[in-house]
Amino acid sequence: MIKIVTDIRGMQEQCDTLRKKGKTLVLIPTMGYLHDGHLSLIREGRKRGDFLVVSIFVNPTQFGPREDFKAYPRDLKRDVELIKPEKVDAVFYPDAQEIYGHGFQTSVRLSKLPKYLCGRSRPIHFTGVATIVAKLFNIVRPHVALFGQKDFQQLLVIRQMVKDLNFDIEIVGVPTVREPEGLAMSSRNAYLTAEQRPAAQSLFQSLEEAKKQVLSGETDAAKIIQSASERIRAYMEAVIDYIIVCDPETLEPMEHITKPALMALAVKIGNTRLIDNMMLLPESGADPNPGR
Ligand code: AMP
Repeated sequence: MIKIVTDIRGMQEQCDTLRKKGKTLVLIPTMGYLHDGHLSLIREGRKRGDFLVVSIFVNPTQFGPREDFKAYPRDLKRDVELIKPEKVDAVFYPDAQEIYGHGFQTSVRLSKLPKYLCGRSRPIHFTGVATIVAKLFNIVRPHVALFGQKDFQQLLVIRQMVKDLNFDIEIVGVPTVREPEGLAMSSRNAYLTAEQRPAAQSLFQSLEEAKKQVLSGETDAAKIIQSASERIRAYMEAVIDYIIVCDPETLEPMEHITKPALMALAVKIGNTRLIDNMMLLPESGADPNPGR
């Protein structure tokens, strides 16, 4: 039986006791409605410690007023069934009252990384993310925490926060798990209709195409973005939020791809906002996975 802990004090006490016994604690923060991408984090996490905590919390402070906080899929029973075979030791499942209900007024805000990519159209998002993750780090006090490279900007934000605020936690980035046709797995894929799926798949296809273009010598980021944009715009229901080629450490836009670059995009398919990214590698021998 997986233990479901809903209160902060209970989670803290359990983790403290184990830490004092010399156990290695691993945390995987999620918003639930779990899928194979989350399972990949769990399996990777399992290898890295003795006590594995998966947190499930749809964090209200990282959603803007017109975003899908209310509609976000939630199903604890389904999530617990899915992770039963995975040897998760505890699920931390607090409600918003438990997390923010006590006159809460502090937040963690990064000054540079959130200016780019998703931060442009979601201005409060990364403050919400950094704040909840800092709280989860203080509640569980893990030795290791795992995050997906699908949310590449989030991974960089967390790494930066850990460095800036001296959290003694190893951050592990896990490669993106995809559906057979390439679409990055996401809880939000549940919103997509069968008719919208080809449009959703065009995100991955355009990233793959960009990768090939760079391998065959194209260095002009604008041209690469243009052809990705054309491929995606071919679908009526696709509205591009951004397509960018950028430095994988600072997220600053790059014009010429003369070193490994991150191509990242966000596209709305109907009401569903999807993101994806891929490394573009101009030369052989470059680190294919700097997010790890
Ligand atoms: P979420 O529940 O969407 O907040 O995601 C929780 C964690 O799982 C985050 O670190 C995500 O980056 C990660 N994640 C989500 N989708 C995937 C995926 N397709 N592959 C790998 N990791 C993922």
